[in-house]
Amino acid sequence: MKLILIKYGELTTKKQNRKQFIELLSRNIENILKNFNFKIKKDRVRMYIECEEKDLSEITKKLQLVFGIHSIVICHKVNNNIDEIKEKVVEILKNKRFNTFKVETKRADKTFSINSMDFSALIGGVVLKNYNTKVDVHNPDITIKIEIRHEGTFIYFDEIKGIGGYPVGVQGKGLLMLSGGIDSPVAGYLSLKRGVDIECLYFESPPHTSIEAKNKVIELARIINAYSGNIKVHVVPFTEIQEAIYKNVDSDYVITIMRRMMYRIAAKYSKIRKCKILINGESIGQVASQTLDSMVVINNVTSIPVIRPVACLDKIEIIDIAKKIGTYETSILPFEDCCTIFVPRHPVINPNLSKCIELESRFDFEFLIDKTIENIETITNLEKEKYSDIL
Ligand code: ATP
Ligand code: MG
Repeated sequence: MKLILIKYGELTTKKQNRKQFIELLSRNIENILKNFNFKIKKDRVRMYIECEEKDLSEITKKLQLVFGIHSIVICHKVNNNIDEIKEKVVEILKNKRFNTFKVETKRADKTFSINSMDFSALIGGVVLKNYNTKVDVHNPDITIKIEIRHEGTFIYFDEIKGIGGYPVGVQGKGLLMLSGGIDSPVAGYLSLKRGVDIECLYFESPPHTSIEAKNKVIELARIINAYSGNIKVHVVPFTEIQEAIYKNVDSDYVITIMRRMMYRIAAKYSKIRKCKILINGESIGQVASQTLDSMVVINNVTSIPVIRPVACLDKIEIIDIAKKIGTYETSILPFEDCCTIFVPRHPVINPNLSKCIELESRFDFEFLIDKTIENIETITNLEKEKYSDIL
């Protein structure tokens, strides 16, 4: 058996919620490791995962997808016995190549008879006797870390960086407006990172938008689901509303009105799905509907908080994140979105609210919205389906 030590991320600073954070983190870890054989033990400061040696590298990779983890440490556990510790250090150094080293000891168990400084010196002496090496306290090739705790002594070298953030779900759920673009999957990832679990809402307009466009969005949801495990995609049949807009509304206002309709549907549906906020991939100034003036008029249809995680990022910064999380290659596949069909030549960049209200009074949008919401199709089990095959 192998032992992995998990150091918690930012959650250690949130005293009153700490228990809930740790519970949720361990549940999220259990979920992501469900296909492996392992045992979790947790306390207020860290978590230990015992697993089989053959699974070690796969499990380590999976853990790097779990928000709330500061670092992942593969360690060796022995009893709080000086000879056992010495022997273990010598044994595990056998496969390491290094010219210089240092030893760092932390003695949490004060009943252990030697203090940290002296114990580091003692183990340093053992290493020097067994290996042709030198001590370098400033820039060593390896640092041997020894933690003497009540439950045993832990010995390790390298810490693998976790992705930080808060455990997914600790903040409840948000409804992500997910398009096939680059921005909204990144917005979803950033929300998950802050502990907000997500469900996705995708507006499609068949036959103007294709099945490939829809599969692309489901594939994007599947990719970010690696960080959650609970993501569902709700597909909104938007054709009728969109056609009503094109029939009734002046062409420079169609995008503004369309987005007001999207917000209305998302806000209403979020209540049904018990999502506390809306999330989208709007970025200030990126297109006509994302000027501050447009945002004010579009956001005016609802009072639910709308979080825009990429609002203040440059496109290049958003692309960097998309590449890092693996959504970029799918996002750039060239399928039409309902926002990109029939784009007017001159969309308004500073829309007028009264004019929007007048334009919307030309058709019974309330009725259409309710009808549309009734016909939303929900896709679960993103892991099982392989939507990328039909892209
Ligand atoms: P990109 O600019 O890379 O195409 P995008 O699709 O995110 O990304 P926009 O089309 O300007 O950019 O849309 C802004 C936001 O509105 C999106 O990030 C998304 O949150 C939401 N949105 C747009 N189209 C849809 C859609 N068809 N379904 C759900 N949400 C959408
Ligand atoms: Mg787009």
